[in-house]
Amino acid sequence: MGRHRRPGGGAVMASLARAETRERFAGRAAVVATMHGKERSLALPLGVALGVSLRATSDLDTDVLGTFSGEVPRPGSPAEIVVRKARLGLELEGATLAFASEASFGPHPSAPFSLVHQELLACVDLEQGIEVVEPVVTVDTNFASVTVADVGALADRPHGRPSFLERAHFPSHALIVMPSVGRRIAPVKGIRDDASLARAVAAAACASEDHLARVETDMRAHLNPMRRRVIRRLGLRLARRLLTACPDCSAPGWGAVAVSYGLPCRVCGTPTAQPRALILRCPRCDAQEERPREDGLVAASPGECPVCNP
Ligand SMILES: [Zn+2]
Ligand SMILES: [Zn+2]
Repeated sequence: MGRHRRPGGGAVMASLARAETRERFAGRAAVVATMHGKERSLALPLGVALGVSLRATSDLDTDVLGTFSGEVPRPGSPAEIVVRKARLGLELEGATLAFASEASFGPHPSAPFSLVHQELLACVDLEQGIEVVEPVVTVDTNFASVTVADVGALADRPHGRPSFLERAHFPSHALIVMPSVGRRIAPVKGIRDDASLARAVAAAACASEDHLARVETDMRAHLNPMRRRVIRRLGLRLARRLLTACPDCSAPGWGAVAVSYGLPCRVCGTPTAQPRALILRCPRCDAQEERPREDGLVAASPGECPVCNP
């Protein structure tokens, strides 16, 4: 995405450096901390690009780290949780290389009516002494929830707009049903057929103090092809990053970790809220680099300036 090939000798040197970095992974066994078949989504991007063989943890209760439907609260930031999950995989399997992914869903920062899916993919490599977390944010998600009195309401098309079931991509993507108020019965997860859905909605509405059922998309990877697609894409990005060596210590995993804001106003030079540069960092040593914007923009329009356009 938007990467420029370095011309001539630069490209050759870069691919040599990549081949050298790949040697640090090729032939190694890696564990994916998952109960939801993520090793299958990652087999192609990580297995092929890095030459590692992936297996899932045989006995991992990732629910102890928190669940999507909220029965167990999730302590720590998503980045902390995803690294903890990968480390859990290392401990359980006695491996030296582990991957784990973690999703969160919420309102779009600049478009409050649309929802975004943020997925993080972590790599912990004890041999190289690195922890790398690669993020992706996308609106390509079916994440949604609704409260209904009966199952028929899920197929309603308000003003001709798609119904909840259509937006949720049911039944190729699973649903979760629970009482809207109170916890008299447990959530029913992984629903993928009409009969089970009708049964679960009726039972949940009956058990709820307000006689309504809450229906949510089930975002677990094995039940959500859209999320699996995002995980595959993210696997490619992580592989590319792991193949990039630190210019100082040559550790794998050199890459962007933050955006630096404050692009100066073209007229008066005051820093604005616009991005100025990317911060690239090594996961092992202190090496850091500020890379100017890829679009070459070095100044912001005075319209963005707090002084020129207060
Ligand atoms: Zn370094
Ligand atoms: Zn200005």
